[in-house]
Amino acid sequence: MNDAPSIAPRDKAEILAQALPYIRRFHGKTMVIKYGGNAMTDPELQADFAEDVVLLKLVGINPVVVHGGGPQIEQALNRLGKKGQFIQGMRVTDAETMEVVEWVLAGEVQQDIVGFIHKAGGQAVGLTGRDGGLIRARKLKMMDNKDPSIEHDVGQVGDIVEICPGVVKALLEDNFIPVVSPIGFGEENESYNINADVVASKLAQTLNAEKLVLLTNTPGVLDKAGQLLTDLTATEIDALFADGTISGGMLPKISGALEAAHSGVNAVHIIDGRVPHAMLLEILTDQAYGTMIRSK
Ligand code: ADP
Ligand code: MG
Repeated sequence: MNDAPSIAPRDKAEILAQALPYIRRFHGKTMVIKYGGNAMTDPELQADFAEDVVLLKLVGINPVVVHGGGPQIEQALNRLGKKGQFIQGMRVTDAETMEVVEWVLAGEVQQDIVGFIHKAGGQAVGLTGRDGGLIRARKLKMMDNKDPSIEHDVGQVGDIVEICPGVVKALLEDNFIPVVSPIGFGEENESYNINADVVASKLAQTLNAEKLVLLTNTPGVLDKAGQLLTDLTATEIDALFADGTISGGMLPKISGALEAAHSGVNAVHIIDGRVPHAMLLEILTDQAYGTMIRSK
């Protein structure tokens, strides 16, 4: 898509100049970006995303990418005749599903993103939670949202025990862009499938990131009438959980966002990955998109 000729030179200059205070403010800061939803499957949006990541890097920001892979895992499972099942937004993961999750995420999706970033002129390095001991995990104990006396068994879905960010820091120091697959490992070296929003949130907290940006396939958090909620506090979120407005894949996103906001990550944004260059607009211009989560 090329709409450049319709923008007057003066407006172009204005837009570029607008980025200056943001570049100054965020120079040297770390931002964790969760890449998911439709933005991950559309080739044009993939290229836009990679360009945005490289541009952020070139203006002195340290992007760390955590990716999901729901649609790609679903496709691979379908090819094998398996049907995905979800409980409270988490994929039920038996041993065979775990194998598929691992090869799709680490073997395919992660390496595709690394490739796209290289094509856009950046240098990315793909990691799973096993690399450098990054994500230690254990089996998730999942209680029912409404009745905490009920426990759901979602198989090899992991809960994060600890993030050891040494390998990510080392890569950032050497100017690489880390691309993390949300796979953790347990005491017996067993693999765990971890929701990518949960990994992104924990990583943002561990790295004392300036921002956590979650790209998804909706305009942000929507209310019961489908209207975008641009700003959410912890109290408002509790009410949305209680009345069921937030459900499915939005549950781990919002809990993670809230936890990050409570732990000192300055800004958490849930934005629409279907909008070309949404991330760049959110970070480097006055334009605010999606939903911003605040701890108070
Ligand atoms: P991602 O790949 O970005 O993690 P998910 O499917 O896991 O995508 O989560 C996003 C989905 O959460 C939306 O597509 C929508 O179906 C669902 N959802 C549940 N509650 C809400 C809400 N209140 N506002 C927006 N989306 C919601
Ligand atoms: Mg999800």
